[in-house]
Parts: sequence; structure tokens; C-alpha cells
Amino acid sequence: MAKTLLLKTTPNFSQHYLYLRHPSIILYSPPNVKTSCFPQVMAMCSSFYPLLPINFGNKARPIFPFPTKPQSLVRFKAFSSQADTSTTKDDIPARIGFLGLGIMGSPMAQNLLKAGCDVTVWNRTKSKCDPLLSIGAKYKASPEEVAASCDITFAMLADPECAADVACGKRGVASGMGPGKGYVDVSTVDGDTSKLICQHIKATGAQFLEAPVSGSKKPAEDGQLIFLTAGDRSLYEVVGPLLDIMGKSRFYLGDVGNGAAMKLVVNMIMGSMMASFSEGLLLSEKVGLDPSVLVEVISQGAISAPMYSMKGPSMVKSLYPTAFPLKHQQKDLRLALGLAESVSQSTPIAAAANELYKVAKSHGLSDDDFSAVIEALKARIQDKK
Ligand code: NAP
Repeated sequence: MAKTLLLKTTPNFSQHYLYLRHPSIILYSPPNVKTSCFPQVMAMCSSFYPLLPINFGNKARPIFPFPTKPQSLVRFKAFSSQADTSTTKDDIPARIGFLGLGIMGSPMAQNLLKAGCDVTVWNRTKSKCDPLLSIGAKYKASPEEVAASCDITFAMLADPECAADVACGKRGVASGMGPGKGYVDVSTVDGDTSKLICQHIKATGAQFLEAPVSGSKKPAEDGQLIFLTAGDRSLYEVVGPLLDIMGKSRFYLGDVGNGAAMKLVVNMIMGSMMASFSEGLLLSEKVGLDPSVLVEVISQGAISAPMYSMKGPSMVKSLYPTAFPLKHQQKDLRLALGLAESVSQSTPIAAAANELYKVAKSHGLSDDDFSAVIEALKARIQDKK
């Protein structure tokens, strides 16, 4: 039986992990690995090896000229006579639909296409489909038609209102769903919206998985997202290989609503972190310090976070190239506050941060990156002068 082994590197490529994935005929090797080691690798394929660390030196080079995944991914096709429970080629859905081609949806759909999937797309603004059509995607004129023509349909939509509308509205996904099909909503919405969508999809006999993502524009481009899934377990198993094309890890969290809740808690923390970071940058400047040095100091200490190192330098220059739109961060804080209220949990820090994002929106910063929240503090400072 054919199996695929994936070798994923850590960011510094110093260590690689070996584990099974869906079948593929891609075979890669780091430059210093002799192909004579492959029999041993093949032999290991006779049983499941989750996250077995092996060291392979620095860079990966393709042995067979198949489409490349990001450089951190190395695949081996191996064979085993033993039965196994890993995904087989027949399990991989043949026709994939993708709805919503914004900052996140476009690169995610593109990664599916690059991996050789048959992808049909739809977006409210049709022109955003063009780059994907030019690399082999198909197009349908409505979510209903996409769902009807595909086995699995993904959606990456802005907010709860449009996620519900695209799924349950006129010519929506549910109208094209039926037994044997699956709908995977990767948008960030609240649990109630996700449950509503689930109800409509399941009423058709299809399966549903919520799968919001952690990670922004660059991880979406690099296939490094983190999926926070909940819903039909069997659909989770079926779409696992597809999630692995678009992401670096995935969590299955049980009942619908848990994925949404996990995502909202993560983004509640992130929104507060960014608001606090903004205050610190401005305060450092006001007391005569160089905010660029503050960014450097933070990067070396215990509160270091990739977000500060990535966004800090441009924030110091008052530049906010959009990776995560500020309007979506405020939406997530609003939804997280609703989640907290539903269980009578006090969240004063998040509530204060939410106010700041609302001020930023009122200053016309909705479509800037969420790091533009710092401008709300500047505006407040100016208002007080
Ligand atoms: P985006 O660039 O604003 O894209 C939003 C998508 O939703 C677009 O395809 C847009 O279509 C569509 N849409 C909006 N209103 C619609 C409506 N009424 N009917 C149909 N389609 C509609 O947002 P994004 O950054 O890709 O984010 C998408 C989702 O992922 C959001 O829930 C966000 O919170 C979440 N998320 C984002 C990031 C990030 O870093 N960007 C990270 C994790 C999660 P048009 O092109 O026609 O406007």
C-alpha cells in the first residue's frame, strides 16, 4: 500500500520531522542525504511514525521534478505491504470548491491548485477569481453551483453575516449540498453562526466542519496555517490532507462552536497584545526613547513574539501594509466579548482594546492592517491637545 512520508523542518532547518501524510509521488531529499538511505525510510513506512525526529542538514533539493511545496516540506513516497489507517489516494476528495478569495482565501486556494487539486472558485467580486483561473482553477457563478459541482467546498469569508448568507442564503452553499458532500468553513465567526450554518448544511445530508485558522497572509501563502477544527470527525479525516496542504498543524476540538471559540480567544489575546504594544511604542517615544530600540529589546526578552518583530519596524514608520484588516480584528474582539459575556467572564483588557479599535475604525482605518490601531492612540493624543 502506498504511503507518503513528510519531512517538515523547523524554521532554522536544523531538525526535520518524519511522519505520514496522504499519498503522493513527490520525493525530495536534503542535499546531504544519500538516496541509499531510502530503503531504511521505506522500511519505516510499514507502520505509522508520528513526528519522528531525524537530522538532515540544511537544504532540501528535489529528486524528482514535481511541483514544489514550500522549501520546508519534504515528501517521500514509500510502500508497505501492511494494512494501515492512513489516508489513501481514494480518500482524497477529487473536486474542491473555494468560496471567498480575499487576503486569506486567494493564497489558500492557490496552494490547493499548486498541489494539483481540481479547484472550482467563486468570489462576490468576480475579478478576484482571475489570477486563480489563470493557473487552472474553474469558475462557477454562485456558491450553490460550486457546492453542487464539488465534493468538498471551503469558504473563507469576512464575517458572520456574509458567512451565513453565502452558506444559507439564496443560491447559497446549502442549496447545492447533499449526501456525500462536505462543507468546511474556515472563516472566523462566532459559535452561534457556525451552528446555524452547520444546521443548514446537515439538513441536506452533507457533513460540516468549522475550521477557522490561526496565521495571517504570509502563513497562508506559505501553507503554514493552524486549523482549529470542530464538527464532523469523519469529514475532518477526509479533508486532513487538504488542510495539510494549506497549513502546518491542525487541531480537532470536538463539537461545532469549539473551533470558533478557540479562534476568538486567540484573537482576543492578539488584539489586546497589539493595543498594549502600541501604547508602549508611543510612550517610549514620548519619554525620549527610540521606539526601534524598544522593538529590539522586546525581541530579545521573555515577551518576544513574532508579531512584534514583524509589525514593530513598520509601525515605527507609521506604515500599516494590510495582512490582517483592522476591521476583522475589531470584529473578532466584538465576538470574543460576546463569548465572554455568554459565560459571565470578565474581560476588561479586551473590552478596552476593543474601544481602541473602534476609534481606529472611526478614523477610516478599517482596511489598514490591525497594527494601525496605534493611530487611534495618536488621534486621541491629538484630540486632547
Ligand atoms: P478579506 O480580504 O476582507 O476577504 C473577505 C472575503 O469575504 C472576500 O472574498 C469578500 O469578497 C468576501 N465577502 C465580504 N462580504 C461578503 C458578502 N456580503 N457576500 C459575499 N462575500 C463577501 O478578509 P481576509 O483577511 O481574507 O479574512 C477572511 C476571514 O478570515 C475573516 O473572517 C478573518 O477574520 C479571517 N482571518 C483573517 C486573517 C488575516 O490575517 N487576514 C487571519 C486569520 C483569519 P469581495 O472580494 O467581493 O469583497
